[in-house]
Amino acid sequence: MKIQKNDNKLTVPDIVTIPYIEGDGVGAEIMPVTQAVVNAAVGMAYGQKRAIEWKEVFAGEKAFKITGNYLPDETLNAFREYIAGIKGPLTTPVGGGIRSLNVALRQALDLYVCLRPVRWFRGIVSPVREPQKVNMTVFRENTEDIYAGIEWRQGTPEAAKFLRFLTEEMGVSQIRFPETSSFGVKPVSREGTERLVRAAIEYALAHGLPDVTLVHKGNIMKFTEGGFKLWGYALAEREFPDRTFTWLQYEKIGRERGAEEASKALNEAVSAGRVVVKDVIADAFLQNTLLTPENYSVIATLNLNGDYISDQLAAIVGGIGIAPGANINCSDGHAVFEATHGTAPDIAGKDTANPSSLLLSSVMMLEYIGWNEAAALITSAMEQAFVAGCATRDLARFMPNGKPVGTVRFGEVIIDNIYLK
Ligand code: NAD
Repeated sequence: MKIQKNDNKLTVPDIVTIPYIEGDGVGAEIMPVTQAVVNAAVGMAYGQKRAIEWKEVFAGEKAFKITGNYLPDETLNAFREYIAGIKGPLTTPVGGGIRSLNVALRQALDLYVCLRPVRWFRGIVSPVREPQKVNMTVFRENTEDIYAGIEWRQGTPEAAKFLRFLTEEMGVSQIRFPETSSFGVKPVSREGTERLVRAAIEYALAHGLPDVTLVHKGNIMKFTEGGFKLWGYALAEREFPDRTFTWLQYEKIGRERGAEEASKALNEAVSAGRVVVKDVIADAFLQNTLLTPENYSVIATLNLNGDYISDQLAAIVGGIGIAPGANINCSDGHAVFEATHGTAPDIAGKDTANPSSLLLSSVMMLEYIGWNEAAALITSAMEQAFVAGCATRDLARFMPNGKPVGTVRFGEVIIDNIYLK
């Protein structure tokens, strides 16, 4: 049975079909463990009333072996049709004419938000003293920026043509080494910014979170990253006038009526449950994630900044082995939940891969479809395991009480913990 999206709302049948891509490398190990855990949690939470029907679709090496195509149309169509799905990591085919299967999937479904919730679990050893202060959800723009793939290699006729255009038609004179430069283009649009920032504000409102921070380098890249900041603020004030309070409004009151009045207005907005929309320069933000992470709950940022920020935050709470993610089109509801790490070819087939990233992505998926009770069972079962020092080797080796277990065993422990609740 299919999920439907009408009037901005998902309708989820009790027996719901979820397409999944097993993934390459460790995907074949972490996907079955994840499915077994999800099945146990759904069964425990809802008995016979609800269940997931897993529907395998193919991408990556498995797809190539079966169909001769790395990303068959049937796979894209299944994600379109069933709205929410989950995937393991995929190898980027070398010389296959595809930049990356992940990027192809995101583009085909216009999954413009890369969503990365970051929280710490008790028992996980962190490089910072107070990792419990990190509890952020990153909205990384997924379709624009210097990542859009518009670039020309040094020495090619295209690079020479682009250089001529810049110097002769646009009057550009500040290219330091013109003849030996490669070039990249950084498109950042108002529409692209607005749909991302809108999704971040709606998320903060729906989850009762206090702030949305626009992270950018607008001090240097004034029209692209600076545009992101200004368009983001303008959207908040235009579309959520009674539900947000922006830093620009705070500053305006400060200029017109003094600092005391501005603080008063801010306090009133916070007490009224308005989301405070603020901004910070990306480099300062990276510092603040270590010094004052408690000041941030929802982050909205551009593609490249978001890439760095997601991995830095993941490292603070235990690394990519435990960081979940999803790519979502918040307008039409299409969502692909995924392990954020790669195929880990160095450990594939050894029963040592950590399934936590995919497990927590499945938690995000359950929350996305409103099956919060099942989601909560998985997170608390995982935390229980970590507190007892039970984890795969990548995490257990740092735990004072660490007892490394294999991928399959870790899944069994989580299921036991779910049943013993
Ligand atoms: P990787 O994430 O596969 O591995 C980096 C390191 O982290 C390795 O030492 C690996 O053993 C370890 N690691 C990764 N996942 C782990 C897990 N679940 N448990 C324990 N340890 C884990 O990155 P890579 O080596 O740069 O890339 C390998 C392949 O994966 C490439 O083909 C790349 O294109 C692809 N990739 C895919 C995705 C994706 O599908 N989302 C993301 C990144 C890389």
